[in-house]
Amino acid sequence: MILSKEQINRYVRHIIMPEISGQGQKKLLGSSISVFGENVKDLFSLTLYLSAMGIGHINCYFENKEGYDLLFSQATDLNTDVKVQLIKDDFTVSDIRLVIGSIDFIKKTTDFFINENAFIPTILSVINQWKVGINKISDLKELSGFNELLDKSSSTCNVSFVSAVSGTICAIEAVKHILNIGNTLKDMLVFDLYNMGISTYEKNEAKRAIESLNIKEEIDYKNAEEKLSNAKVLIVGAGGLGSPSSLALAMAGVGTIGLVDSDVVEISNLNRQVLHSSSRIGISKADSAKFILMSFNPQIKIDTYIENLTKKNAEELIDKYDLVISAVDNIQTRYLINDACYFMKKPVIEAGVLRFDGTNTTIIPDKGHCYRCLYPNLNTKGMSCAETGVLGAVPGLMGFIQAAEAYKVITGLGTNLRNKILLFDGLDMEFNVINLDKNPDCPLCGNNPTIEKLQDYTFRCNRVD
Ligand SMILES: [Zn+2]
Repeated sequence: MILSKEQINRYVRHIIMPEISGQGQKKLLGSSISVFGENVKDLFSLTLYLSAMGIGHINCYFENKEGYDLLFSQATDLNTDVKVQLIKDDFTVSDIRLVIGSIDFIKKTTDFFINENAFIPTILSVINQWKVGINKISDLKELSGFNELLDKSSSTCNVSFVSAVSGTICAIEAVKHILNIGNTLKDMLVFDLYNMGISTYEKNEAKRAIESLNIKEEIDYKNAEEKLSNAKVLIVGAGGLGSPSSLALAMAGVGTIGLVDSDVVEISNLNRQVLHSSSRIGISKADSAKFILMSFNPQIKIDTYIENLTKKNAEELIDKYDLVISAVDNIQTRYLINDACYFMKKPVIEAGVLRFDGTNTTIIPDKGHCYRCLYPNLNTKGMSCAETGVLGAVPGLMGFIQAAEAYKVITGLGTNLRNKILLFDGLDMEFNVINLDKNPDCPLCGNNPTIEKLQDYTFRCNRVD
């Protein structure tokens, strides 16, 4: 199989990374993954990102398949190379299987897997409220051992951000497994999105890991829902980070979402920008995103701005919203958002991605660090505008975390990444949350600020277009 010209354009952000290259992309297109979930919502992000990254065959099992047709139509329009189908039970030809669900569901599913003849590598994602425990199982003995640790429990109330986050982590691990790159999960990873705590447990501590999932948060969801439905969030960028963050916030019921993007959908976006699709190539990203978000949640209001955020329009646009998600792919706009939001006292959820890595931080003006506390000045020396590689599900993971951060800031619940930065290394599947301080020498929010109004954020690159 030779990649066609269209496929080279579609997967260019994968192909330019030596870990994947054209050879690896062909392998992904020839691969087959089975995914298992209790309902369509739990497998939403997983299925879309597997499709975007070009997993040739995606076999889906849903205990309750209500709403699957909408997911399938988006997944197949997103990537016309991919075949997505329903399965009734296990599908033994797959390279790996991924299971996302409550303790009950994982117990039931693994009971079934144990009685099969052949073992298939399996990643189990146990979700409970705001927590997920992810465990890669490599043989039947380990599967039986883990199954025995699972008690039928009375849980659960799952928050959609958790299945979205675990879906992208599983998708990244599945690609690494198929291509045999990086270090796949050896320990059990427990991600607590509510407290932003990430722990790893050795395999012999799996019992303790499961117990930690069972610790419940007392949360007044009714009050949170009301705050969300009154909230207005501006998302700058409707691409790699804007797709997952707007999708998760629309599904969570944020009342008004503003989308700012001047670009049109291109085929090279589709390895990661899951809101867009092959049939919407050439139309504006903001309109394409609005179209699909409205089909998922017709109750919310979406404003579109088909323009760039600039020094001229930034304050007027930001003024209409309570919080800004910085989902941009260029450094100038990051500084512009940071400065404008500091002057207007609006929180910013900031993220960035490159190759297999990502970062995430939450900026609350005057109550924590800002972007310039970390990187005081826009230094363009040595910067290149060449396109860089990125694995499709990495911006997915960072964007879903941005959405969860926005939810926590809006509702006042949990612990967010204020005065913290999350660093993600996808090849090693490592998360680090580093504590930061407000920098007293920061030119914007420090003791003797030198920046008192918006700057010129121009930066010309020597790009051959
Ligand atoms: Zn600062």
